[in-house]
Amino acid sequence: MPPFSFTIDARCADTWARAGTIATAHGVIETPIFMPVGTQATVKSVSSEELREAGATIILANTYHLMLRPGSQLISDFGGLHAFMHWDGPILTDSGGFQVFSLGHLRKLSEEGAAFKSHLDGSAHLLTPESVMRIEAELGADIILPLDICAAYPCTSTEAREGMERTHRWAERALAARDSYRTEQALFGIVQGAFEPELRQYSAQVIGNMPFAGVAVGGLSVGEPKAVLWEMLRHVTPALPEDKPRHLLGVGSPEDFVTGVSLGMDMFDCALPTRVARHGGLFTRHGRVNITAARFRVERGPIEVECDCYTCRNYSVAYVHHLARTEEQLYYRLGSIHNIRYMLRLASEVRAAIRAGTFAAFRDKFLADYTPAPEAVREEQREKWKMARRANKA
Ligand SMILES: [Zn+2]
Repeated sequence: MPPFSFTIDARCADTWARAGTIATAHGVIETPIFMPVGTQATVKSVSSEELREAGATIILANTYHLMLRPGSQLISDFGGLHAFMHWDGPILTDSGGFQVFSLGHLRKLSEEGAAFKSHLDGSAHLLTPESVMRIEAELGADIILPLDICAAYPCTSTEAREGMERTHRWAERALAARDSYRTEQALFGIVQGAFEPELRQYSAQVIGNMPFAGVAVGGLSVGEPKAVLWEMLRHVTPALPEDKPRHLLGVGSPEDFVTGVSLGMDMFDCALPTRVARHGGLFTRHGRVNITAARFRVERGPIEVECDCYTCRNYSVAYVHHLARTEEQLYYRLGSIHNIRYMLRLASEVRAAIRAGTFAAFRDKFLADYTPAPEAVREEQREKWKMARRANKA
């Protein structure tokens, strides 16, 4: 059996949604799929066994954080990420590029690569398309991503074009370099092009034609309005090859997952479901609730009646509310498990609807029932995360 394959099991007649199966050496992934994000080789507060029980079939780990601490060589010495974190299912690692671009003044870009100073100790590092292939080979994930340039929102047309062209040149260098490492790893290309429809379409064609195992769409969900994000996908998807899996990088709220599937995406990763859980935001059929709200104080039922997660099967809302109010450790685990299970159950339902030929109706009903967090709440949430991040660094 080849280490990586993708087959399409069903297509939606009314939208661009498809249901597929990805086979890897560590197991099968049925798509569309949500990937919990394990930045530091751990999905925060949740063990690998709990992830498995929640239905996770693939997780994402961040190259940038792991190369700095504990170091990719150390992880390699422990048999790679699967053995190190005791997760025997498929893993995807990103290239580290996105985090490096977020470092702002701490990084410097050239044709060779991205030079940056560690946010931990200020030490100097250089990420190149070649060194990223070596680091990801040491981490040993099943699916890996090449170094790319993620343009800021907003950016000029020149910045958009130059970033995209360099991303394409780096894609070729990554393809050439990976042959000297672990060729059983599935390398995905990354489509860029910022917020220029013609560039997005062109990048989708160029990356789609390179010999990558799959295609990731990067540089979206970086602060632009949602309408712009979907508009870009409307230009990208038709230009992509049909027979490769498509990963929409960094997108994964419930409503964005459903909309992204309808625009032809198969794989989604996002830290949002676990991050909002840690801040009290739990997903329900009707939208996100704040579990610390007073109305939950004496409620006896589960967070959501139809939820089959470990938390909902065993604990009342009142108890989870109490744990969240008192900032108990157990809350972070129970809240995260609920949101992860919610996303994975949603993915199964979406997949079943595509196979049954009822996805368009499913999408419309889901989006009608689900009230997204208002923009003001999201803004407040972003500020809280930024403050928490600053506190972590201090
Ligand atoms: Zn639940």
